[in-house]
Amino acid sequence: MECSLIKPNIITRRRNSLSVNIFKASSSSSSSFNLKILSFFLFFFLIFINKLVSSSSSYSITGAEIEDIDVNTNSLFPQILKEEAVSRLTELGKVSDADHFLERTFLSPASGRARSVIRSWMEDAGLRTWVDQIGNVHGRVEGINATAKALIIGSHLDTVIDAGMFDGSLGIVCAVSALKVLKINGKLENVTRPIEVIAFSDEEGVRFQTAFLGSAALAGTLPASALQISDKSDVTVQDALKENSFEGTEESFLQLKYDQRSVWGYIEVHIEQGPVLESLGFPLGVVKGIAGQTRLKGFQWNLYHNPLFVRWERYIPGQVQVMSFQDR
Ligand SMILES: [Zn+2]
Repeated sequence: MECSLIKPNIITRRRNSLSVNIFKASSSSSSSFNLKILSFFLFFFLIFINKLVSSSSSYSITGAEIEDIDVNTNSLFPQILKEEAVSRLTELGKVSDADHFLERTFLSPASGRARSVIRSWMEDAGLRTWVDQIGNVHGRVEGINATAKALIIGSHLDTVIDAGMFDGSLGIVCAVSALKVLKINGKLENVTRPIEVIAFSDEEGVRFQTAFLGSAALAGTLPASALQISDKSDVTVQDALKENSFEGTEESFLQLKYDQRSVWGYIEVHIEQGPVLESLGFPLGVVKGIAGQTRLKGFQWNLYHNPLFVRWERYIPGQVQVMSFQDR
């Protein structure tokens, strides 16, 4: 994955990093990052969203231009973009199927609780909400032109086993918090195109040894035969859907596909899953390439997010083959 490195002047904290994925699906695991940069980042994310969907040429959200922002005033909406966002990340980080670590796999009991919590946050942000037939949670505002192509923002609500609390959750909370500020400013209903936040039900693929069940169903890239994939207890995707009160039929599955022409773009904020930005002292990176995810048997390691100098596969005879997978 390629990543351009940027160094905004206003963000002076140098430890730990965020990445912004544009038109990209994300992948596994997590790392920690400094909460103190969260409110700064969320504020600029908010400006970014507003700029994307606004006809105004100004970056103004509050009536003040960026240069006029006093970080010690309420113009950063600290109650929403810092205190509440941190509180929600912490809360979601405790919604787990395990007692002593974070584990929330596709359609597990904890996933059901996470869906409810996230949906309530979306409603609090003024969004119309629903849960689709693969367990994705949606929150949408139509704005002044409901027929325009929609901007989609989101991330995944499932986790790997013993996950970090920011993996996936950060992208969901960032989106909801940014839109909540637009609502409070009375701007949410005036956005020039629909905005839809999606909390994807499966990205990690831990339970069914797949990946992207939630987003692939919406993209139309997942065949209906995926309903018959079994987990290690021989429960199929279809069984799991029905156990969670979803229809679990081929018809309901195929109806999930979004019309490509209805989507304007996709943005995902994601924690950096490797040491590159942090080691270089950059708080933020913009992803320029797309990371794929393929499950192979063997040692667990994330090929895409670790630089070559720390990766194990450079030491093994199969390095050339491994690298060829990466380059695809
Ligand atoms: Zn992730």
